[in-house]
Amino acid sequence: MKPKVLFFDIETAPNLAYVWGKYEQDVIAFVNEFHLLSFAYKWLGSDKVKCETIKGQGGDDKKLAKKLRDLFDQADIVIAHNGDSFDIKKARARFVFHGLKPPSQFATVDTLKVARKYFSFNSNRLNDLGIYLKVGEKVKHTGFDLWLGCLKDNKKSWKLLEKYNKQDVSLLEKVYHKLLPWMERHPNMALLQDRDGCPKCGSKHVHKDGVYANSMSLQQRWECQKCHGKFLTRRK
Ligand SMILES: [Zn+2]
Repeated sequence: MKPKVLFFDIETAPNLAYVWGKYEQDVIAFVNEFHLLSFAYKWLGSDKVKCETIKGQGGDDKKLAKKLRDLFDQADIVIAHNGDSFDIKKARARFVFHGLKPPSQFATVDTLKVARKYFSFNSNRLNDLGIYLKVGEKVKHTGFDLWLGCLKDNKKSWKLLEKYNKQDVSLLEKVYHKLLPWMERHPNMALLQDRDGCPKCGSKHVHKDGVYANSMSLQQRWECQKCHGKFLTRRK
């Protein structure tokens, strides 16, 4: 069976808090802590990007958190930009808040970490990577007003947030595919299917590409015909 690979991105509502002033302030008390506003997602191999929101739910993100938890639960690999530090952890905070069960284990690919590890781009922001790699850019929006509009349940704001959130996922996938052949470590897509093949994309169409020697051993070099990733296996 093909591995289930989930691309996703969340949008959160800001914390609402009391402060005594404007600059370098400590929060006195939270009125409302952050919660999920929406998430967009796409499965690898499907062409549909979907978005779920808390539109008309009075700021309650329990159902939304449950839906996202269930998607994580089905996934073998979860991919997000800054997902390891932000999206996955923020989502988890809402899962535990609502008393949800943890999802089954999944591997992750964080395209921000990949961008930092293997390249030196001027900017590792998703929008800047999209432009630099010529695969697209984010939807322009009205800044913080858009988030405020959603908190007030303004229909136009929700519509724009959905569009923005979906485009982030579609851009994420395009950037991921550009970076994929360069990733030296990727959850092994061939092993997940219990077969030989390209560890990065799982394709069986791989060609031998000479040998590689380090100080200790000789290894077989391979090139994938689908994603053009290179990889090594132990020489038998
Ligand atoms: Zn491949």
